[in-house]
Amino acid sequence: MPAAVVVGGGIGGLAAAIGLRRIGWQVTVLERGGAFSEIGAGLALWPNAMRALAALGLAERVREIAGVESVGGVRDQSGRWLSRTDNAEVARRHGWPLLMVHRAELLRELMAALPGELLRADSEVLDVRPDGDGVVVEHRGGRVRADLVVGADGVRSRMRRQGWPEAEAPRYAGCTAWRMVTEPLGGRGAEGALFWGRGERIGFAALPGGRFYCFAAARVPEGGAEDPYAEVVRRFGGWPDPVPEMLAAVPPDAVMRHDVYETPPLASYVRGRVALVGDAAHAMEPTLGQGAGTALEDAVTLAACLRAEPDVDAALARYDRVRRPRTQAIARRSARLGAAGLVAWAPGAWLRNLAARLVPPGVLLRSMDPVLGWTPPELREQRGRSAPRPGGQARTDSGEGGGTGSGGGARTDSGGRDRAGSGGGAGGSRGRGRRAGA
Ligand SMILES: Cc1cc2nc3c(=O)[nH]c(=O)nc-3n(C[C@H](O)[C@H](O)[C@H](O)COP(=O)(O)OP(=O)(O)OC[C@H]3O[C@@H](n4cnc5c(N)ncnc54)[C@H](O)[C@@H]3O)c2cc1C
Repeated sequence: MPAAVVVGGGIGGLAAAIGLRRIGWQVTVLERGGAFSEIGAGLALWPNAMRALAALGLAERVREIAGVESVGGVRDQSGRWLSRTDNAEVARRHGWPLLMVHRAELLRELMAALPGELLRADSEVLDVRPDGDGVVVEHRGGRVRADLVVGADGVRSRMRRQGWPEAEAPRYAGCTAWRMVTEPLGGRGAEGALFWGRGERIGFAALPGGRFYCFAAARVPEGGAEDPYAEVVRRFGGWPDPVPEMLAAVPPDAVMRHDVYETPPLASYVRGRVALVGDAAHAMEPTLGQGAGTALEDAVTLAACLRAEPDVDAALARYDRVRRPRTQAIARRSARLGAAGLVAWAPGAWLRNLAARLVPPGVLLRSMDPVLGWTPPELREQRGRSAPRPGGQARTDSGEGGGTGSGGGARTDSGGRDRAGSGGGAGGSRGRGRRAGA
């Protein structure tokens, strides 16, 4: 049975592990952290992300832990609506509405889909080197050999630094993001919205259990040292309702502050038997809410390519051909929208707001079709696939107990049938309240 080592246990890494197991690979996930991270605030899951989750057999479960709002949109700093989006229209057009999940809860669902013994915490990967037709991975817990390494180790990827030494380092996108989740607001509803100011923006969206995910960004020099909660309140505490109410419901120690970095485009996502997925390949500004979605797409596509192509190297080449143009285009679009959303020059902000008011919401939504309309490549039954060449199993050469664990378990029930395109529960709030306050 072919074997893969996944470096990094974030959304991209766990999804890749699930996808690879579904096509019959043995998998080990090596995570640097002491535990598989349950850190984070909210994440947007657009229809393309839900279709990827459907291909992994997880869409229904994720739907149950997600929040969904009927409308959202953009407001200016005085609170006036500039543009409103009907989430039912998103669902009508694409089969799923926009859903919001807590990152920790999504990670929990992904982890639950994998046997625990495949997940190795405290296993920072230190080195990866080619070894015949495979790769040897050195990590804090020992050494393992595999046919394929999936580099899912995030924006500061060691896999990318090591395998792509010529690549430029991630660059500061010019803005800092604050993310936080409120305590339950006691049933007081609010429409999700994004407020655009000058060089600053703040938004919020409903999570299950009456909580709200709040996200803010500002054009500031990187590395600010101010207390994150104090800074958010200083910047946004005087913005229109319900922003102050939202901020008052955020525990002061629950604000995450991240300088935003993007990866300069790579010439390939594959080198030898190392394939990059997610932020390691294409970290982008969060403006379009596609960081998690594109990582999930990568994971599903990688598995589909490996299933469809009898030769691993050809499959990886195909993965790169399919994923690079799409993800780099989405990253460029996120950067453009990010620049517009954070324009600080007063006439520029005025023009931006005018344009947002004049463009009909239907046109805006249609313009997102190339991003949201993604469908997973079919995870077909493989035909005539030769076993990967020598060293087929991830072998433990030192310090490891149990190699890649139980691995295997090839399932044949994949392929996006889990609800993809089935209407997706437009609007409604089914599932709200489950795991309230988790
Ligand atoms: C702690 C954290 C919180 C986040 N919170 C949010 C949020 O609230 N909202 C949002 O929209 N996005 C958030 N993001 C970003 C978002 O999760 C990603 O943009 C997106 O999901 C793509 O994920 P990824 O799996 O490619 O990378 P990541 O989510 O960054 O995961 C990479 C993983 O690799 C591990 N790793 C790194 N180096 C090594 C190594 N050498 N060996 C082994 N493991 C390694 C890291 O510990 C991490 O678990 C967060 C990211 C992180 C790391």
